Amino acid sequence: RFDVELRKVFKVFNGETAVQGIDLCIRRGEFFSILGPSGCGKTTTLRMIAGFDTPSAGELLIQGQLMTQVPPYRRPVNTVFQSYALFSHLTVRENIGFGLRIKRQRKAEIADRVQEVMQLVKMEAFANRFPAQLSGGQQQRVALARALVNRPAVLLLDEPLGALDLKLRKEMQVELSNLHQELQLTFVMVTHDQEEALSLSDRIAVMNRGKIEQVDTPNRIYEQPQTPFVADFIGDTNLFPAKIEGAHPAMLWITTANGLKMKVRPIETAIPLTSGSVVVSVRPEKIHVSRTIPGDVVNCFEGRLRHVMYLGTHVHYVVELLSGDRLTIMQPNTIDGLPGADTPIYVQWAPNDCLAIPA
Ligand code: ADP
Ligand code: MG
Repeated sequence: RFDVELRKVFKVFNGETAVQGIDLCIRRGEFFSILGPSGCGKTTTLRMIAGFDTPSAGELLIQGQLMTQVPPYRRPVNTVFQSYALFSHLTVRENIGFGLRIKRQRKAEIADRVQEVMQLVKMEAFANRFPAQLSGGQQQRVALARALVNRPAVLLLDEPLGALDLKLRKEMQVELSNLHQELQLTFVMVTHDQEEALSLSDRIAVMNRGKIEQVDTPNRIYEQPQTPFVADFIGDTNLFPAKIEGAHPAMLWITTANGLKMKVRPIETAIPLTSGSVVVSVRPEKIHVSRTIPGDVVNCFEGRLRHVMYLGTHVHYVVELLSGDRLTIMQPNTIDGLPGADTPIYVQWAPNDCLAIPA
């Protein structure tokens, strides 16, 4: 069963297309993230689900019902905004109960429900404080409680942790995940933070310029990016535009634009890749660096060390190959005796550790 369905949904603002015909099926109870760079149309998509924006074309269904004529307040969804949007003149308790008071619920009923969600987000002790007397994380909890108090079927979250500093964000990520497990609601979260999306989501839609590039589990998004954009946006990687020269089951021989010959693994596709243009993605942690020529000469190239940064758990290298390509490399340890700028350095990676993606 799908809780939210978008069918060929478009949104045009004054002649500019913000969302370009997207299809999405979000399952009941799923933690679903929409991930992409700033300006790609994430918020617009979420606002259409919430009912604050109307699609220019296409259909939107929530729990199987067409939402075209349904105003935001009649939809079984609620939204947590990045800005929290709390009323500064109301206490925590009053902020959370506000929506229920508007709907003229009974006083006792309101009090019970507010108490319940304040417990859920661990804010009972702050019931009588005003927003200005709360930390950023506490304000975020109030915003969550306020969105949950009228028991929506789907909780929409727009960059919910975006305003918090890194340490607090990590803590709140764990709490969001716990909350999702406890409530078993459908969560739809918008974020530009790939780590946040990878760590929290059951599935992720990667968005770019108003379109969806891939919908998959976090693991598949990382291990089997279906487009060069997804490979580049998720994690760090080195990309080489290339042409397929030869194909064997599950292995390709390619030549890059700068003339490097490599043996690479193709991504899993319905129709096997055998010819044409590809982009080869090599993750920084898959590249070995050494001062001597390695025994295995497949995918082995000579270069010069251009930059070294010691990061504690890892060392980050930039190596410029003789072809002119610059590679980003992450290795757990330092090469003994750092070579000077003109000393040869060899890089190498296994064919199974790099991916060819259709260009
Ligand atoms: P994101 O949330 O991914 O950063 P948005 O959905 O906010 O992206 O915006 C997508 C595009 O639509 C942007 O180019 C933005 O300028 C435009 N846009 C968003 N809202 C409006 C609006 N109300 N009026 C005009 N243009 C808008
Ligand atoms: Mg946004």
